[in-house]
Amino acid sequence: MAIENIALFDMDGTLCDYDKSLLEKLEGLKSPHEPVFKLPLRDNAPSYLRERADLIRASEKWWEELPKFKLGWGILEVARELGYRIVILTQGPRRNPASWSGKKKWIDKNLGPDVDITMTRDKGLVYGKVLVDDFPEYIDRWLKWRKRGLVIMPANEGNKDYHHSQVIRYDGSNLSEVKSAMEKAKLRHQKCF
Ligand SMILES: [Mg+2]
Repeated sequence: MAIENIALFDMDGTLCDYDKSLLEKLEGLKSPHEPVFKLPLRDNAPSYLRERADLIRASEKWWEELPKFKLGWGILEVARELGYRIVILTQGPRRNPASWSGKKKWIDKNLGPDVDITMTRDKGLVYGKVLVDDFPEYIDRWLKWRKRGLVIMPANEGNKDYHHSQVIRYDGSNLSEVKSAMEKAKLRHQKCF
């Protein structure tokens, strides 16, 4: 039986530009005297700011209309060219069902209604040959049981110091490196019995 060539794609910070959109909305709600906001909002950010962010994220429409994130789409194109089966693997916020339906609508609109989706609290549960994700904590969790798994990590400010031998950080300049690693991963373990 052939092992399926599945490439798992994260949404926020990978296929969707979550940060840009949240920042723009927060800017729009800012009074002229407030300082410029920076993301990500840490737990020690002022509560008025975190509550504004929660209000923005409570809108299904906001999730549905997130702009595309270029780095992730570049990797998606490579995965499609190589014939990977694309599966969306995204975190479902615990207390925000509107985000679950907004995410599904975003996928329908941008990738079509037939794409498989896993929304989970634990990305480590899900099989794939390749994971494309920007968040080190989820990457570590997924790699824990996959000593030969490959991760492509779209670059951002928050993951610039992250290093792992199975992870390629993609910043827009090293697409050929990404492509050859994904090619190799695809050829690995062609069959299992
Ligand atoms: Mg992400």
